[in-house]
Amino acid sequence: MVHDFLDQNGFLSQPNVEILTPEPLSKELLETIHAKEYLKAVRKISETGRGEIAIDTPGFLGIFENASITSGATVTGARAVASGKVDHFLSPTGGFHHAKFEWGGGFCIFNDVAAAAYELKNLGYQRILIADFDVHHGNGTQTYFYNDPHVMQISFHEDPEWMYPHDGFIEDIGEGHGRGYNINMHFPMDSCDGVYRHAFDEIVPPLVEFFKPEFIIFLPGFDAHYKDRLAHLNLTTDLIRYITTYFHRMAHKFGQGQLGVLAGGGYTNESFKWGIGVVMSVLSGYKYEPPKQKPPFEDDKETWDIVQMNIQKVKRLVFSELGIWNIHNP
Ligand SMILES: [Zn+2]
Ligand SMILES: [Zn+2]
Repeated sequence: MVHDFLDQNGFLSQPNVEILTPEPLSKELLETIHAKEYLKAVRKISETGRGEIAIDTPGFLGIFENASITSGATVTGARAVASGKVDHFLSPTGGFHHAKFEWGGGFCIFNDVAAAAYELKNLGYQRILIADFDVHHGNGTQTYFYNDPHVMQISFHEDPEWMYPHDGFIEDIGEGHGRGYNINMHFPMDSCDGVYRHAFDEIVPPLVEFFKPEFIIFLPGFDAHYKDRLAHLNLTTDLIRYITTYFHRMAHKFGQGQLGVLAGGGYTNESFKWGIGVVMSVLSGYKYEPPKQKPPFEDDKETWDIVQMNIQKVKRLVFSELGIWNIHNP
């Protein structure tokens, strides 16, 4: 679907766009990100076609190979950027951020976000930013780098009080040397572009200016769109364009353009495709305009109050931990 969409909209005939062939995840990386017992269990499901990864994640014949190539695509992209072959990559299937060391679920088998970050660390990168704007918290990825100041994760998501995976509270800011490098910001149901953009402007630029990422792994979160069937935020592609443009600019400012986009979540085909078009437009410089969109709600006072409170809480906990109170938006 993504391939056809990009083709029909002229992206694939652009001189600066190329299709990379994904490699499956290496055994070494697989065993870095997942326990041997878990890999064995996935392989067994894969060979028999019976059993499930989790209650929401059914098994099927060949699931091991399928997950290995869809997650491997992210690592293939990261390597292509690191070697200078391309500036940016888009992995349409990537972003399996719920998978943990010994556990899969939430449609995620192997955690490609963690795999790419480990691969980059092995290549000598010191500051990797995971900017996770999927509507669900990046709970799996968070567990890998919770103590690690070389990997900063910023996750914006719907309130975990009612939203899967019921994790990702503002208080969870990392541990040990990693304290302050794990940032969770959440939003009440029906939040729209206005509050989201305000929270983004208040929280993200000071962190990025402080961290100066060499490589940015970005999950744009097409499931936060108002048309998405699995969640309750009300963003439009205007907001998706806004944050993609920001991370693209920061990648050029701090990391010679090194940016990988994992398209990840998105469960309504229409808005998913608009999101892909907008992201590809920012990365390639080729014009794409999705249809005008109007969410069914607007931000009300209660929403603003909750979001303002959450912003202050993030700043109080994280900014003071990192000592970045005085850095203002550029
Ligand atoms: Zn999601
Ligand atoms: Zn660029």
